Amino acid sequence: MPRVPPVLIRPVASIRTRMPPAIRVEGLEKDYGDVQALDGLDLTVPEGSFFGLLGPNGAGKTTFINVLVGLVRKTGGRAEVFGNDVEEDYQGARDAIGLAPQEFNVDRFFPIEEVLHHKAGYHGIPEAEAEERAAEALKRVGIYDKRDVRFDWLSGGMKRRFMLARALVTDPDLLILDEPTAGVDVELRHDLWEVITDLNDEGTTILLTTHYIEEAERLCDEVAIIDSGRKVTVATPDELTEKGSDTLTVYCESAIGDAPALDDERIERVAVEGDAIRVRATSASEVVPSVLRQLEAAGHTPLDIDIERTSLEEVFVDLTRREAGADADAESHEAASDSAETGDGDDGEGAGDRVTAEASR
Ligand code: ATP
Repeated sequence: MPRVPPVLIRPVASIRTRMPPAIRVEGLEKDYGDVQALDGLDLTVPEGSFFGLLGPNGAGKTTFINVLVGLVRKTGGRAEVFGNDVEEDYQGARDAIGLAPQEFNVDRFFPIEEVLHHKAGYHGIPEAEAEERAAEALKRVGIYDKRDVRFDWLSGGMKRRFMLARALVTDPDLLILDEPTAGVDVELRHDLWEVITDLNDEGTTILLTTHYIEEAERLCDEVAIIDSGRKVTVATPDELTEKGSDTLTVYCESAIGDAPALDDERIERVAVEGDAIRVRATSASEVVPSVLRQLEAAGHTPLDIDIERTSLEEVFVDLTRREAGADADAESHEAASDSAETGDGDDGEGAGDRVTAEASR
């Protein structure tokens, strides 16, 4: 009897691991004339993950998203969504994505439920199903009772909810949220967090850009920090905070005088304030025994200690601190994006046209 080739009996689990990631970009480049918005970006977002994209203003986050959804044509590198090339296989990639962009680019003259019907129709969803999905999406974000209202007449918070509903109406495998909670109140922020966490639990991959570090820390499994169009690092929020330095304060019985020389390679800086000695170290809890021993050997009597962990925000600032000139870049960005803004009624569809228009710039 012929031997069965091993490939035919491979267990399902190992086949799953070969599923393409939700997003894979390699050497991605985009220049707008002299501005290099994406400069060889490499990034992989695993299927099913809750992935955060952090970066200062002008880092290239929105450009990256726009390349994925076909609003901007890349000038180099590769970009795939669930294995579909974003240009050669545009429809396959685009249909997998639900996008809630930063700006409100909604058709303002139709009742919001109708806007959702149009959106579903654009993605080839039959009418009856589109109606069901629209109702479901509006219920999910808590504005079903506003279904007959025009977008313009919604409050700011409801507009944000609607942007999420519009992204959900196609039941996307990848939900991209570009600063979804910018300027919303605490209650709405928590509501939106709950909705997107539930979606992720149900299997939707989430790509979230945010300037609220706490949001990334609370929600994301993994965070990529990008700056000047390049990846700075990818790590879990915990791993990132471990990259920072903590501050250990030891309170002694009496004034310390001159800062003692503490011998430990993990220690970065030592400062003295009266009876307190402050030690900055990569992992403060691990240097406690050595610091206490050395203080006692120098004749001091430690009474109490306090450890202040670095926040993700501090690590972020450290990793993305740039030379003067960054601000000027961010300002030129504002001017540029104003000029590139789309008119009312453009919800990012007809993106093929947009690519052509943008690419001719
Ligand atoms: P923010 O956090 O402020 O939204 P971002 O990380 O999303 O910033 P992008 O909007 O992608 O950054 O901008 C990246 C760079 O590309 C910036 O230097 C910006 O000025 C430039 N840029 C973006 N869009 C255009 C455009 N349409 N024309 C010219 N330059 C642009």
